[in-house]
Amino acid sequence: MNDLLQKDASSIWHPFTPLVGGTKPIFIKSATGVYLHTDDGRSIIDAVSSWWVNLHGHSHPDIVKALEEQIKSLDHVIFAGFTHEPAITLSENLLKILPSNQSRIFFSDNGSTAVEVALKMALQFWTNQGINRKRIVAIEGAYHGDTFGAMSVGSRGIFTDPFMDHLFDVSFIDFPVGHNEDVVVEQFSALVCTDNVAAFIFEPLVQGAAGMRMYSPAVLDRLLRVAKAHNVICIADEVFSGFGRTGKLFASDYLHHLPDIISLSKGITGGTMPLGVTSCSDEIVNAFRSEDISKTFFHGHSYTANPLACAVANASFNLLVGRECHEQIELISTLHRAFKRRIEQHPRLRDVRCLGTILALELDVAGESSYTHPVRKRIYDFFLDRNVLLRPLGNVIYVLPPYVIKTAELEKVYGYVEEFLNER
Ligand code: PMP
Repeated sequence: MNDLLQKDASSIWHPFTPLVGGTKPIFIKSATGVYLHTDDGRSIIDAVSSWWVNLHGHSHPDIVKALEEQIKSLDHVIFAGFTHEPAITLSENLLKILPSNQSRIFFSDNGSTAVEVALKMALQFWTNQGINRKRIVAIEGAYHGDTFGAMSVGSRGIFTDPFMDHLFDVSFIDFPVGHNEDVVVEQFSALVCTDNVAAFIFEPLVQGAAGMRMYSPAVLDRLLRVAKAHNVICIADEVFSGFGRTGKLFASDYLHHLPDIISLSKGITGGTMPLGVTSCSDEIVNAFRSEDISKTFFHGHSYTANPLACAVANASFNLLVGRECHEQIELISTLHRAFKRRIEQHPRLRDVRCLGTILALELDVAGESSYTHPVRKRIYDFFLDRNVLLRPLGNVIYVLPPYVIKTAELEKVYGYVEEFLNER
């Protein structure tokens, strides 16, 4: 094993990891349910669902079976000019549960590309009609992925600084935190009055990477009403919030005004295979129906609609819409709320937030909350020493477990959180 770790160190460049002073990777041999098993016999609770992707636990037998069955018949095929059953079934499945105005599914292969596709669809919607609308509006603090379009609509900071000159110009409205909601709606109204705004992109109800920052469905509905009144295309980035995380299947289900375009990934395959999806309404797709070839949406990836990924996504879908999964989501939400009530007055906490299966605790540190806050490493090590994987966003600890976690396991995680808070 040491030998493998040495080879890792000399040949692999890990994501979001400094090459100097970064933590050494932990070697994982297998994973089942909520546990990651190491080579030296530890079983670590995956309390962040492996970067927010895992829904039904690792190596769920239904998903394993779907993958095994699928690879025996069709591994992959070009998706331009060809099609297959797993993709067709998945499109139908998704359209059954997505907001009612969604009518088309466009496939890609990760969250960032699902966002790129959404942005390109929105921009080309206008150029196809010869209408000059180019500006995109986003929310301060946003994170939409690491490709250039996705970075452009994300907040500027340490992730984007080296690429600053290459990002396109975007208008950011302030994050609506309650007391400033009227001001934010006014800011937004002033922007969309200019007629040049093509689209508004947002992470509905919760900005994940920004520290699980949450805002109300009421204010988002107000923004969407203004956007709709000015024909601005509304893009919901549900890459993180989709598939039950917020307590409903999609965060958009909390809203009255429906998005025109939705980006999905992460939980779509239950956390097993890379897949991205961008869905849209009839109105959007109709702007691409033309005999003029230049109005085609010229976008696609080699692994678009990979049959293996689609097959496991269908297996994950069947679990997601089942009674058991629904009950588990309800259970986690109830336990999170109860724990929030138990600790929210703790003097070391600046804020405690929860929405559905997402629980976030913001530590009261000197200065502003930030992703790079040094307390991060201490938190990470503290929980790993106790065989719990929590990967804080700076001084924000969050608990986001796979839906199959048991009450006793979740209570164990809460217990360690309390121990951490009570430590001097
Ligand atoms: N959008 C949101 C809201 C996300 O949280 C993320 C990833 N954390 C992405 C897009 C990018 O997804 P991926 O990492 O699969 O490219």
